[in-house]
Amino acid sequence: MFVCGPTVYDYVHLGHARTYLAFDTIVRYLKFLGYKVRYLMNITDVAERIVQRAEQLKRDPFELAREYEVAFLEDMRALGVTEVDRCERASEALPKMIAQVAGLINRGFAYETETGVYFEVQKFPKFGQLSGQNHEELSLRRLELCSSKRNPEDFSLWRKYEKGLAWDSPWGRGRPGWHIEDTAVSMAAFGEAYDIHGGASELIFPHHEAEIAQAESLTGKAPFVRYWLHTGLLNVGGRKMSKSLGNMIRIRDALREHTAAELRFYFATVHYREPMTYSHTGLNDAKRRLNILRKNLTAYSEARTGEDPRTGGASATLAKHESAFKRFMNDDFYTPGALTVLEEFADELGRIGQKVDQHSKANLEAGFRKMANVMGILS
Ligand SMILES: [Zn+2]
Repeated sequence: MFVCGPTVYDYVHLGHARTYLAFDTIVRYLKFLGYKVRYLMNITDVAERIVQRAEQLKRDPFELAREYEVAFLEDMRALGVTEVDRCERASEALPKMIAQVAGLINRGFAYETETGVYFEVQKFPKFGQLSGQNHEELSLRRLELCSSKRNPEDFSLWRKYEKGLAWDSPWGRGRPGWHIEDTAVSMAAFGEAYDIHGGASELIFPHHEAEIAQAESLTGKAPFVRYWLHTGLLNVGGRKMSKSLGNMIRIRDALREHTAAELRFYFATVHYREPMTYSHTGLNDAKRRLNILRKNLTAYSEARTGEDPRTGGASATLAKHESAFKRFMNDDFYTPGALTVLEEFADELGRIGQKVDQHSKANLEAGFRKMANVMGILS
């Protein structure tokens, strides 16, 4: 599984938190089912936005990127994002990107101009399929304004820059395009095809369309990725939470007021693909529900055990809740349903604590915690 990581030019906000928590939960659930998961994330430390911000601040772009990469990893740890196996920086995969760009030129999918190397979208008829756009619609979307391109929909694989953040290549000094960064990083780790690619829904077009076009044109094999998972936007007051709109809440600021478990519970109340509106009412409601769940669990843990060895009854109770939990989660990771199962389970535990014998009691609690841990709502 590969998920598009952040472009490290500023602090990450709750919109990012929602995305990375969703994928953390998805991996936890896959492991709960017994799958082995290799989860790779890239760190975009080569990008126009980093160069621009560094110029504004009169800073070195690499230093700036490292600083925000450290901040990002701190924020992820604070949220309890534990499942990423490896983060790979774009800047460390330059030879792989250059090899892919050269390969695309050799195979006739890309061409060089005085400003860079571009992918010729018309050569890849599937372009637009992931986002459900036809060729007419695509021709109206101008991806990158540049007069040297053959067609407005072509996107850059390499941009020529003499100075600043730049590397040597067969096409002179310059920087890779953003889309080829991720294709190079993920294919170097997983080969020609892999199972899951995730990211925010705003990345479907053009970023993920471009990734498919690059990879499948290079290998001649399809599909490049078996499942695409996209998280919905986090809105505030009817608009997307973003740095440019000035309505963002940094993760580190949110964590001063709310615990990671509270934020995880809150985000899990909406299916990851749906857009979500951030609100205090919603967050407070999630906190209230989490408190009740915890009180029930504490009451259960502290209750004196009964003499009645209802082991059979206890395992049936666990099986009932576990199958309901799986039914929701198997339906495209429907966390809102899974939360209600955990609440009902906790409620039942709160009522039966004094009735079960010690052995059953421990089993039930372990079973409950295993499911709650998928959602990350107890830590
Ligand atoms: Zn990406």
